[in-house]
This record gives sequence, C-alpha cells and structure tokens, in this order.
Amino acid sequence: VQWEKQVRNSAQIHRGGGMSVLVTGAAGFVGSHVSLALKKRGDGVVGIDNFNHYYDPSLKKARRSMLAEHGIFVVAGDINDGKLLAKLFDVVGFTHVMHLAAQAGVRYAMENPNSYIHSNIAGLVTLLEICKSAETQPAVVWASSSSVYGLNEKSPFSESDRTDQPASLYAATKKAGEEITHTYNHIYGLSITGLRFFTVYGPWGRPDMAYFSFTKNILQGKPITVYRGKNRVDLARDFTYIDDVVKGCLGSLDTAGRSTGSGGKKTGPAPYRIFNLGNTSPVTVPTLVSILERHLKVKAKKKVVEMPGNGDVPFTHANISSARREFGYRPTTDLQTGLKKFVKWYLAYYGHNHGKAVN
Ligand code: NAD
Repeated sequence: VQWEKQVRNSAQIHRGGGMSVLVTGAAGFVGSHVSLALKKRGDGVVGIDNFNHYYDPSLKKARRSMLAEHGIFVVAGDINDGKLLAKLFDVVGFTHVMHLAAQAGVRYAMENPNSYIHSNIAGLVTLLEICKSAETQPAVVWASSSSVYGLNEKSPFSESDRTDQPASLYAATKKAGEEITHTYNHIYGLSITGLRFFTVYGPWGRPDMAYFSFTKNILQGKPITVYRGKNRVDLARDFTYIDDVVKGCLGSLDTAGRSTGSGGKKTGPAPYRIFNLGNTSPVTVPTLVSILERHLKVKAKKKVVEMPGNGDVPFTHANISSARREFGYRPTTDLQTGLKKFVKWYLAYYGHNHGKAVN
C-alpha cells in the first residue's frame, strides 16, 4: 500500500497536457537526468532500476536519493519481471515509456555476454509485451546506440546508413533491439522511437567510460591507457553533452504520437522512428585528454597502445538533420564546456583524491 502510494505520487502530472512516463534505468546516468527534466516541467515520472553492480552501485543509489528529493520514486526491480511491470501499469496509466535500462559498455561483453542478452534482448521483449497489452497504449522511446554503425566508414553517420557490421556484442544487441521494436510496431501498432546516442558524458556520468576513468586516474597520479587505431590513427568520438541528449529525449517523447494498439481503434499506422542524437563534431581521444589535463591542472601519464579489437570502433560522427527537422534538436555544448561542468561535479562529489569511491 505504501509502495502504491509512492508510485501514484511520483506519477502525478502538474501541467496541462502533461504525460506520465515510466523511465527504465532511472538510477542510471541518462535515466536520472531525463527523469529530473520531465519532473521539473510538470510531467509524472516513475522510475525502475535493478541497481546492478556493473559499476559502483552507490553512485546509482546517490542518483536515486537525488531524484527522491524531487519527488521521483525509483522502484527497485528488473525489467524482466513482467509481473512487477504489469502491476506498475495497473497503478499508473503510463502514456509514455522512456526505456533506458540496458547492459552498456562494449568491452565488458567479452567476459559477460549473457548480461547483454538478459537486459538488452529478454528485458526489452518483456517490457514490449507489457506495453502492447496495456490499456493506455504507451508510446515507447528507447535508447539504441551509435555503435550500430559499427565499422561503417562513411562519415557522418545517417540513420539510413548500413548497420550490418557490429563490432561488439553490445552493438549487436542494440541492432537486434531495433529489429525487435520494429516488429512490435508492425504487428501490434506500438509507437516506437529509437534514439542512437553518441558517447554521452557529463555530471553523474558513468565510471566505466573513458572521460570518467581518465579523470579518476589523472587525479590519483595513475597512468591512463589511450587506444590508437590502425596506422597510428587516433580514435575519435562524437562526444555529446548530457543536457543536449536530455533535450533530444524530451523532444522525441513530445512528438512520439500514440500507439494504435492491436485491439484498439486504428487511426493510421503508429510511427516507427530512429534518430541520431549526437553532437556533429568528433574529437580525438588525445584531445579529450588534453582538455581534461587543462581542467584538472594535472598532467596525465599516458600509455598509448594499439586498439586490441575488443569492441571499440575507430570513430563516430552523427548527422543529426532528422532529429533537427522532427523536434528541433540542436546540441549547444562543446566538449571543452561540457567537460568543465563534469570536472566541477566530479570534484564536488568525490573530492580531489578519492580512494575507493569509484570502481
Ligand atoms: P547506465 O548503465 O548508467 O544506466 C542504465 C541503468 O539501467 C543502470 O542504472 C542499470 O542499473 C539499469 N539496468 C540495467 N539492466 C537492467 C534491468 N535488466 N532491469 C532494470 N534495470 C536495469 O547507462 P547510461 O549511460 O545511462 O545509458 C542509458 C541507455 O543509453 C542504455 O540503454 C545505453 O545502452 C544507452 N546508450 C548510452 C550511451 C552513453 O554514452 N552513455 C551511448 C549509447 C547508448
């Protein structure tokens, strides 16, 4: 009963025409930011997260406390738990699902392949099964990844480019997610929007990502390993600041349109959409390191090694004209500015020489 009350309160809408959104992976990096942005503009938000140990669970708990201060409740549970999801839909008629729960990271997949199948395939299907039969016919917006472009050499990447050369199991599960969601759109009339995020970074970020672990090591005087591609070419990423990605998520939710539902009245086909959410200006990893050195005022001890072929791709670069056209997506934060904000958060959160706080 207490649980139900918390869910109901969290889902309350405080603006005319507002939506009620189930955010999966709400204690994660992107999920916590999106939940907060929705709540701040008056939408109802309920989160779900399994608080797994892929990286420091205390950071996830800290994000959950931050959300609780804003009246957002994050249910502890797994998206493979269909009963729990069904119960949540019984309590709240969600109009939208923002699906961000996933097993992320490309290298971890070498040792833990099943974790990707569990969350990114089985969990996705469990969630879609609940959505397709929910009375409210929620529109689903979910995180795919720039990694689906794999070894594509055409730059920048457009949504219609080939995605048949995944470089990691992570990429393969995201590509499979696109096919699976497309099937649910086709058969059951679910409104689906897939967002291909490009290396998202910022405050409350993910400790397993390079900009974060570099910061930790540089501050602790430990060496950092910088991968370089074949023929001594630097790796480059289209680093995208979290606030820009959040705007893209909200824009895509706002334009998602209704599902038509398998049993419901059909008013035209439910949309199936895919958008790149990137920054359109790739930066090399050595440049990333030098920006961090400047902000941290410490020189990095760099070990440059050839990329070992464990899932990383040589470069990413987004063409964002579709997202711009559909919902006015326009990233405004360059890497220099965004990293400054990240470092400021990092130092406030961990201090200058945190020891065991981050895995
Ligand atoms: P994150 O790991 O911080 O967030 C994911 C959250 O989902 C975590 O809190 C985790 O505990 C939770 N989770 C995982 N499996 C779950 C399950 N089975 N049931 C319930 N909760 C589960 O990652 P993030 O960076 O916030 O990424 C969010 C989404 O965006 C993911 O789908 C990710 O694949 C995708 N993405 C992220 C980036 C990026 O650069 N951050 C780039 C491309 C795509």
